[in-house]
Amino acid sequence: MKAQVFRGVDRLCYEDLPQPTIAADEILLKVEVVGVSPHDLRALTSRETESPCVLGSEIAGTIAAVGDDVSQWWVGQRVATVSRIPCMRCRECLRDRFSLCSVYRGITTTAGFTPSGGGFAEYVRVPAHLVCHGGLVPLPGHVTLDRACLLQPVNLSLSAIERLQVRAGQLVWVLGAGSIGSMFVLLLKRFGMRAIVSDPNPDRLEVALDLGAEAVFCGTSDDLHTKIRAFTDGEGVEAAILTAPSNESFLNALDGLRPGGKLLGLTDYAENGTLLFDPLSLMRRQIDLLGCGGMSFRWQPTAIDLVFDYRLPLESVVSDRVSLSELPEIVARATASKPATRKILVYPDSRSG
Ligand SMILES: [Zn+2]
Repeated sequence: MKAQVFRGVDRLCYEDLPQPTIAADEILLKVEVVGVSPHDLRALTSRETESPCVLGSEIAGTIAAVGDDVSQWWVGQRVATVSRIPCMRCRECLRDRFSLCSVYRGITTTAGFTPSGGGFAEYVRVPAHLVCHGGLVPLPGHVTLDRACLLQPVNLSLSAIERLQVRAGQLVWVLGAGSIGSMFVLLLKRFGMRAIVSDPNPDRLEVALDLGAEAVFCGTSDDLHTKIRAFTDGEGVEAAILTAPSNESFLNALDGLRPGGKLLGLTDYAENGTLLFDPLSLMRRQIDLLGCGGMSFRWQPTAIDLVFDYRLPLESVVSDRVSLSELPEIVARATASKPATRKILVYPDSRSG
């Protein structure tokens, strides 16, 4: 089968790999479409990523084979994957920090090599833990595969919003209007919060306005927070979300918060981030710093409802659809300065690409 194998920073190789073999309690899934996540983009440009590996975890596809002991799934069934499932028993799971669970972190779908999603290939092996504990979501006939592969970013965004504990009517500043930033705008609006968005690319900000942002701000400069303060009559925002954390965005967001505000960062921080700032200013203003790095088991029913119910225009976050062979080119565009891309969907079957 064809796969895009990560063999080092900026080295994606379009290769032939053996199709994964499955054990009696496992499933072989044909990847019909896979979303490129912010984690994928970060991993593809990081020296810390183990190579070789095949990334890509936001998968929707068709079951191609089931092991002899698998009874509740069948060949031809359309499913979306939830690529990581917590154990629900450990200390981290019992306090709803699922992404810190060793089972959550250690087991996922794979196309070969170390399990790391594997969706940038034509087939993935779904391990028994995922088969048995909610790692596959059956799709009703009306749900397209393109929409279904957005299940994980919807869940991730919901769990991040839950961490923020913001209420309807409160103002949230989303830094970054890429794939996950666009998702935040849609969901914040869906739950009655107000969103403002900043990004260096004016085209992405146009889309953010269409998705429901109340105002947008172009740039990432050091004084961006002054524009945010002016917009809020000097008060600052209740919460800020760093979708692509960097030192510059962190400091900007910190200065744009009102006293008692909350700053949430997704965990794909720029490599080796080291930052100097005055901790006293943080404590005096009683700022909460929050990290969010994964999906929440608790939010899965809501995430499924939002994906299966077509009232939320989730497809609006998609900017590009490419074949598997075109992945390196689109990744280069998505990781360039001031990228125009938002959600990228990849189609591994070369006949449909
Ligand atoms: Zn656990």
